[in-house]
Amino acid sequence: MKPVPLPAIDPAACTGCGRCIAACPPKVLWLDTPDPRGFGPKHAVLHDAAGCTGCAVCERCCPFDAIGMRRSAG
Ligand code: SF4
Ligand code: SF4
Repeated sequence: MKPVPLPAIDPAACTGCGRCIAACPPKVLWLDTPDPRGFGPKHAVLHDAAGCTGCAVCERCCPFDAIGMRRSAG
């Protein structure tokens, strides 16, 4: 299977603005907190890597350059 580049989201740069979540065509991004109780700032996370098409729409729409597309090995 052809490897698809996946978005790597830098939590230090992500402000949780939600723009990438709204823009992702298959809706495989969402906002989540690192704390399981839901405290703390929310950041974008890729919750369904298998559903990501590698289109890079999220990377292009992030106003804070928090997303970089990474090609997985294999
Ligand atoms: S668009 Fe960028 S800053 Fe906004 S939630 Fe997505 S990764 Fe974070
Ligand atoms: S690369 Fe495309 S499909 Fe994958 S998370 Fe970003 S916007 Fe969604």
